[in-house]
Amino acid sequence: MSSYIDLKYINNLSSRLKQFKKKTDYLYNFRCPHCGDSKKSKLKARAYFYRVKNDMFFKCHNCGMGQTLANFLKFVDDNVYSQYLLERYKGGTPATQKPKFDFKPTQFKDPTLLDDLKKISDLNEDHPARLYCIKRKIPKEYFDILYLSDKFGELVNKVKPNTYNTKTDHPRLIIPFFDTTGKLFAFQGRAFGKEQPKYVTIKLDEGKQKIYGLERVNFSKQINIVEGPIDSLFVDNCLAAAGADLFLKKSINKDYITYIFDNEPRNKEIIDRMYKVIEQDYKIVIWPDDIQLKDVNDLIMSGISKSEVMNIISKNTYSKLSALTKLSYWKKV
Ligand SMILES: [Zn+2]
Repeated sequence: MSSYIDLKYINNLSSRLKQFKKKTDYLYNFRCPHCGDSKKSKLKARAYFYRVKNDMFFKCHNCGMGQTLANFLKFVDDNVYSQYLLERYKGGTPATQKPKFDFKPTQFKDPTLLDDLKKISDLNEDHPARLYCIKRKIPKEYFDILYLSDKFGELVNKVKPNTYNTKTDHPRLIIPFFDTTGKLFAFQGRAFGKEQPKYVTIKLDEGKQKIYGLERVNFSKQINIVEGPIDSLFVDNCLAAAGADLFLKKSINKDYITYIFDNEPRNKEIIDRMYKVIEQDYKIVIWPDDIQLKDVNDLIMSGISKSEVMNIISKNTYSKLSALTKLSYWKKV
């Protein structure tokens, strides 16, 4: 309930915050009124409102400022702040009892990394990188969270010096990983051509798991987990595990989580991971035998709609004993 009030106040603030944009239902981006944001560019916006449980918080990735929505309102406008406290806590928690939240110090002062790249949405209609995204049927709404790096080696070397020999550099599609506060913590480069490996994931923060989609997912709804970041763009409320074992925090109910592995019944490594997930009592999709395509994106590219894919997923979700039985018939090794 409280987030409804929070969102109402955020909406009322929108005209007073520069470059204000709603990114998802619970993530808003704008220029930071504390530090004034970038002096060089009036377009850069590094401040966010984001959600933790039922509350909205403020965080600036430029100056590092983090605070509750209440304290942010107090900073912007005392009258609005008093009104908010009344509405938010009337009959409930007394206004003096401020929500507790420990912000971790900013470990990496980043966003300039993406600022140097071009968003797919900013490329000409006939640019090869944009055409690549269209060919893979990636919904246009995601074109502003996908980027092009003309020189991938150079980009990686900025974060991890001397990783690549930049004499033989090549372009890649850049898929940024943001945390729940909208902060960049890793990125994946997908080759356009035959360059190997096809996917390279670079972490800016070694302490974080490679989970893609955290800034968009609603943790109070059913969460789907696929392997590939691009696949996750076609599935409702979806995270991608980027090729690793991904287990979410114990506080999330296992009934809320469905794992969707690639359709590779001959891949020993994937099958081992499927068993692990079933043993931990998560739900899992076992693809029906008549589907030969390897992953969600292949299904979409073959002409199956997103809603049909969701339908296939829900019809083929299993857990516990039925999952074990299905898996033993499905696997080919
Ligand atoms: Zn700031």
